[in-house]
Amino acid sequence: MPVDATAAYDPDNIFARILRGEIPCRKVYEDEHALAFHDINPQAPHHILVIPKGAYVSWDDFSARAGDAEIAGFVRAVGHVAREAGLVAPGYRLLANSGPDSHQEVPHLHVHIFGGRPLGPMLA
Ligand code: 5GP
Repeated sequence: MPVDATAAYDPDNIFARILRGEIPCRKVYEDEHALAFHDINPQAPHHILVIPKGAYVSWDDFSARAGDAEIAGFVRAVGHVAREAGLVAPGYRLLANSGPDSHQEVPHLHVHIFGGRPLGPMLA
């Protein structure tokens, strides 16, 4: 069910529960700003989700409300995870769905990292 990206943050969404350790994940990386883990339904050989630790529904919410240190820390974490996964030379794709038209399903900001095979042209 696509989320309403303008709705208030739901503290019981699945990624909030993963952050609190209530639901397990296959963790890839964690620091003070971000947690990265394997997607449960991978769409590529590498399909990693990176989420900020703060309570942000969407990219819009994050870019509007997060502090500079949080934003910088999150962006650096995404880059770090892709580097550590060995994806810099072959290349990779970042995707952040935001709101119903994008089919965002989990109402906690997440960036998908896809890689490990040629991904083809970007779909509209
Ligand atoms: P969205 O469509 O919101 O951008 O993507 C949500 C992603 O979260 C999907 O790729 C889905 O497979 C993944 N996902 C949903 N629930 C879980 C979960 O409980 N654990 C993990 N690791 N991934 C999940």
